[in-house]
Amino acid sequence: MQEFRVKTGSRSEFVDITDRVQAALAEEGIVDGVCLVFCPHTTAAITINEDADPSVSSDIQNYLDQFVPRRGSYRHAEGNSDAHIKSSFFGCSELVIVEGGRPVLGTWQGIYFCEFDGPRTRRVLVKVVGEK
Ligand code: ZN
Repeated sequence: MQEFRVKTGSRSEFVDITDRVQAALAEEGIVDGVCLVFCPHTTAAITINEDADPSVSSDIQNYLDQFVPRRGSYRHAEGNSDAHIKSSFFGCSELVIVEGGRPVLGTWQGIYFCEFDGPRTRRVLVKVVGEK
C-alpha cells in the first residue's frame, strides 16, 4: 500500500491528485489491475471529474454549499456537519482500472481529493491489486 499526504489551504478545496496516484502506481510496479484510492477521513472525499477547466470543481463546490449550507439545524456539536454530509455525497474512495501501469481515465478526467473541513493535512491511501 502507498500513502501520501495532501495539505489543503482552505475550508473547501478540490486538489488534483492524479499525478500522485500515478506515482504510487509506479512505486508499486503493477502494470495491469485495479487501484483503490481511499481517504481515511470523515469530512473529505475522493472523486473523479473534469481536470481541464478548474471552474468545474469550483462550480461543484459552490453548488454543494447551496445544497448543504455550513450553518443549518444540524445536531452534531462539532459545527462541521455540512462537511460530513458532503463527504458522504462523494464517498471516501474511487476504484480505477490500471492498464500499462497507468490509471485508465477519460480524456478530461482527473482524480480529486475533496476537502470539506480544511485547512488540514490529510492522508490518501492507494492500494493496487494486479500483475507486475
Ligand atoms: Zn464532525
